[in-house]
Parts: sequence; structure tokens; C-alpha cells
Amino acid sequence: MACYILMSKSLIEFQPLFTDNLPGDPQIDNSRRQVSGACYSFVNPTPCSKPALVAASPEVGEQLGLKREDIYTPDFVQIFSGNLLMPKARPYAMCYGGHQFGHWAGQLGDGRVINLGEYKTHDKILSVQLKGAGPTPYSRNADGLAVLRSSIREFMCSEAMFYLGVPTTRALSVITTGEQVWRDVLYDGNPAFEPGAVVCRVAPGFLRFGNYEIFAARGEIDILKQLTDFTLTTYFPELGKPGKETYIEFFREVSRRTLDMVIHWLRVGFVHGVMNTDNMSILGLTIDYGPYGWLEAYDEAWTPNSTDAQGRRYAFGQQANIALWNLWKLANALYPLIQDVNALKEVLEDFSVTYGQRYKSMMASKLGWMTMGEKELALLKQLLPLMSSGEVDFTIFFRTLADLKIKDPVRPFFDQLRDQAFYGDEAVVQPDLENWLNWIASYQKVLIDQDVDDQDRKLKMDAVNPKYVLRNYMAHLAIEAASKGDHGVPGGLMEMLKNPYDEQPKFQHWFAKSPAWAREKVGCSMLSCSS
Ligand code: AMP
Ligand code: MG
Repeated sequence: MACYILMSKSLIEFQPLFTDNLPGDPQIDNSRRQVSGACYSFVNPTPCSKPALVAASPEVGEQLGLKREDIYTPDFVQIFSGNLLMPKARPYAMCYGGHQFGHWAGQLGDGRVINLGEYKTHDKILSVQLKGAGPTPYSRNADGLAVLRSSIREFMCSEAMFYLGVPTTRALSVITTGEQVWRDVLYDGNPAFEPGAVVCRVAPGFLRFGNYEIFAARGEIDILKQLTDFTLTTYFPELGKPGKETYIEFFREVSRRTLDMVIHWLRVGFVHGVMNTDNMSILGLTIDYGPYGWLEAYDEAWTPNSTDAQGRRYAFGQQANIALWNLWKLANALYPLIQDVNALKEVLEDFSVTYGQRYKSMMASKLGWMTMGEKELALLKQLLPLMSSGEVDFTIFFRTLADLKIKDPVRPFFDQLRDQAFYGDEAVVQPDLENWLNWIASYQKVLIDQDVDDQDRKLKMDAVNPKYVLRNYMAHLAIEAASKGDHGVPGGLMEMLKNPYDEQPKFQHWFAKSPAWAREKVGCSMLSCSS
């Protein structure tokens, strides 16, 4: 039965799409437990004392049929903090498992996410969920809450990613709860209270690889089949009726979408930070923004996640490998439905081949080249080590490269680049000077050989190389401002991040290397999973 949310001017109708079509947990309480034989448990959000709006995305509201003015009503904060539930609402938390840092972790599940339901129109489904609205049966030994800093980070980044054209879940709002949450930010034995918050996240669906893995691991193959069939009919109807062939095509499509997502990450310099299989969306969306970061000084081994500082499993340059590793785990999970190792292997092998092609064409587009032949590839292979040894800012480099004209003298351009984009000091840059000058000259030679027009190239490069990304310290500044009750910085930054490929002269000052203070500061250069 549908449930309606009546706001002052609008009505949201939630359909219980997930819960009506899949088996649920008969036990109705929030006690932490192992839940077997079920895809979800019904659960109610924990009411909070003083919900207050920090930030909202009217564009996401519009998709749910909300008018802009609805966002600033008292109802809005009550509903999207979890305080106000409709009479027939049946919120739920999903059961899933996952491989964390390479090891099977058993049952995880929505430990601090509560789904309000699905909003359905003739052409779309949007699932709406609250993150940080209290414990669920899946909270294990944690509190089910989220703090303001991590909530702002999730809100800003998921919206920024959307405007960059990267497949992602979105966020409707961040609301502080008025409660204090106990967290040890550095995991160093110095916990403190921090303001709590709830993010309302919106996406067609939040199913993860781990949702399928848990049933395969438990041998609950009938439920695995029900969940997979539900996924197919709801999200992949174009693949046809469920059956062995369709399951293979489904796996191929998940693999294709996952690859597409990772290629976008590599294009814009995004590092997810925790690519565990419970954080991999079956719809190929970037999901669960935790200790993510943006590549500033180019370094393939860079990770923002301090928990991963030793192994660097989820570093920038590892992301395609890990996506493939995760797809192997999904293949294992779907195997009982398919029982054809070769068919699954063929999809995985195809991932590697296609990755090579797509990476090259993506990098060619960033460089403004028509193709990436052997000569060009050799030049790319010279560039990347130069960028990492000079600690060259990823975003500024590619954006500035578009300004170089075929006939421009090389030295002045290098000097400009040196000034704007290098973090490395003279001692590291000087020995590479000749190599840099040669590289720029060879780059121009490729442009001449490929008969590329300067103006046309700049247009094309600017469409794939963002001018503005959510630099790690920008989120930090927004959090500091919001913590003081000043929401101006998030507002200004969000406006900038909505048009990341446009010049936006009024935001030119943000097109700059990150300041020195930010490079070592916790929350800017390093983050823990504490959120
Ligand atoms: P993550 O890697 O942050 O996406 O989370 C891994 C698992 O831990 C998921 O099942 C989350 O729901 C759960 N989790 C993380 N933080 C909390 C929390 N504060 N309370 C309850 N569960 C949590
Ligand atoms: Mg997660």
C-alpha cells in the first residue's frame, strides 16, 4: 500500500516496491542480530530533538515532486530527519554482506540507513533513504548515527559528482539533529562529541554487490533468485525475462556500468577510498561517500583513507583493478543462478580488455588528441611520471593544457604551468626541466600530426577536464562554516560545483592549488573512516 507525505504544497507518494516484492524479516524491533531468510527488516527512525536544515538540493527535491518552497517548511526537516512518519509508512533497512579490504565480513547491512520507500513515476523510480537516523538490526556494535562533517562531505560530493557527469547517488538534504554524537576522528583514543546529522540520499536504488553475496554465502539460493529477478524486472527490464541467459547479460551490464563509473573517477581525479563490495552499487553508481578524496598532486598511489595508508588497496591507480576484483566476487555470488564458469569469466576478461581501450580513449580526450596510437601512448607514459615527480595538480594541469596553442613557444607555457600547477619545489622540478620542455614540444607535434584545431580542441578538452572540483580542503572549509552555523560557504561552493566545466570568473580564485596549510591537515589530506 502506498503512503503519502503531505507537505505544505506538495504530496510525495511512496510505493513499497522493495518490501512488497521481497521477503522481509518477521521480527519487528531494532535489536542487533543476524537476520536470515530476508532481504530487509522493518525499522523506525529514532526521533531527534531539534532538526535544523543545513543544506538542500532543490533539484533533487523537484525530482520527488517537491517545490522549492517546500524545502523551507517545518514539515521538511521533520520528515527528512526521520521525526515525522506517515501513518502507512513502513521504513526498512536492507540486509547485505560484503568483502571488506579483501576479506569476507559476513552480515553488514544498513546499519545507519533507513529507507523511507520508493517514489515512482511513469519513467523513473527513486529510492529515498535517511543516513544517520538511528540504529537498525544491522548496526552491529555501532550507534546508527552520522556526524555533521561526514554528512556535509557526502551531500556536497555526491551533488558535485552528479554535475560532473559521474554516475552517482544524490542527496536531497543535510539536517542537523540537535543530538551530540561520540566519535574518535583520528582513532587515536581521543573521542569527543560532535553534532549529529541526517543526510537524505536519493537514487534509483541502493542495492550493492553485497546484497547478492550474503544470500550466496548463506546458501539461501531461493532468496538470491528472488532478489536478482526483482533487480532485473525493476531496473533492467530491457534485458528480458529472468533466466540463465538474462542473468549473464545482467552481470555483463553491471560490469559495463562499473567500468564506466571507474573511468569517470579516473577522468575527474576521484578516489572513493573504501571500495569494499558492500560499497559497490549494482546500478553502477558511486555510492557511500566516506573517506573519499580528490587527486591534487598527481600520484597513482594516493589514497585519502588513513585506514588504507599501509596497503593502499583503494588508491587512485588501483580502482580499476579493485572494481574487477569486486566483480569476481559478484560473479561468485551469481554463480548458483548461472552455473556457467566460462560465461562469467568471459565477462570478466572483457572488462580488462575494454578497460585498456576506454582508459586510453578517456586519456586521449583529456589531452585533446583524436586517437591514442603507439606514439601518443608513449608520450602519455612519459607524462605521468613527470606529473608525479613534480607533484603536479591533476585538475589544473589538464585544464591549463587546453590553453596551449600549437604554435606557442614552449618555455613560457611551462613557466606558467610551473607557477600554477606544481606543488614540487625547485629541487625536484629542475632535473626534469628538459624533459618537460621536450614533452610539451612533442605534445604540440602530435597535435600538428593529428591536424587538430586549437579552438576546437580547447572546447573539447574543457568539456572533459573540469575547472572546479571539490578539493579536499573546500569540503573542510564548508564543514567549519556549517559548524559555526554559517551556511554561506556551502551555498557558494555548491553554486560553483553545479557548473564545473564552465569558466565562472567569479569563482576564479578557487581555480588554484590547495593551500599549504591544507596539505597535511586532517580532514583535508587524510581522513579516517570515523563518520
Ligand atoms: P561503510 O564502509 O562506512 O560504508 O560501512 C560499513 C558497514 O558499517 C555498513 O554496514 C554500515 O551500515 C555500517 N556502519 C558504519 N557506520 C555505522 C554506524 N555509525 N552505526 C551503525 N552502522 C554503521
Ligand atoms: Mg557502506
